[in-house]
Amino acid sequence: MQTLEASIYSWQIDAAAIFIRYFVMAGLAYFVFYVWKKEAFAARKLSASPIPKGQIIKELAYSCSTLTIFCLLSWFIFKLYYLGYTRIYAGLNQHSWLYFFGSIVGMVLLHDVYFYWTHRLIHWKRLYKWVHQVHHQSVLPNPFSAFSFHPFEAILAAGIVPLIVFSFPVHPYALFIFLGYMTFINVMGHLGYEIFSQKFRRSILGKYQNTGTHHSMHHQNAKVNFGLYFTFWDKWMKTEKIKEGKN
Ligand SMILES: [Zn+2]
Ligand SMILES: [Zn+2]
Repeated sequence: MQTLEASIYSWQIDAAAIFIRYFVMAGLAYFVFYVWKKEAFAARKLSASPIPKGQIIKELAYSCSTLTIFCLLSWFIFKLYYLGYTRIYAGLNQHSWLYFFGSIVGMVLLHDVYFYWTHRLIHWKRLYKWVHQVHHQSVLPNPFSAFSFHPFEAILAAGIVPLIVFSFPVHPYALFIFLGYMTFINVMGHLGYEIFSQKFRRSILGKYQNTGTHHSMHHQNAKVNFGLYFTFWDKWMKTEKIKEGKN
């Protein structure tokens, strides 16, 4: 049976991946939509107003603090793994491939529930000011807003990882794919542009997909659209607001 100790996995590699993933995805999205293809995507921009001066610097500072908290959690999870407390499995042959891909779907669905309800919780006025207000200071979201969290919110956001590794067997590669997808969806939600056509957004599949429009509206009206990946929970809890736009 393969163990993590005998593999290339280490928290240093994981920590590097946490920073690289964010800077590559957010940086690339910013470069394409705000610099390189700015004119080409102009019609898909969700707000005509420019991003306020100083906002991105602030978002980068808060994001680095968030990523540092994610790295500390990773270190802690590795320690717990070595002590035998987690359900992480190191050998790909310990579970089937069906289980491997199923576990990724399971993590996304679990995170969707976790995100929706913790997000509703931190909008409670007693917590909002101390936990979530920093994130909402980005009224006009852009890719760098994705992890612009107060440290308390970063800890809460990171909580999904221990919940996963204590609940069901998970391979580090599956976790890696899940966290990559989570970062991608988060950056896309904060893009400030709508990349999906209105036709797709009105289709059976598109109706349940969270998009840039959906989350941008949340940054402007904090009473609607709390979801991350899908719109199921917003639909079920009647917190969804749909914008009919020209795109
Ligand atoms: Zn946001
Ligand atoms: Zn919010």
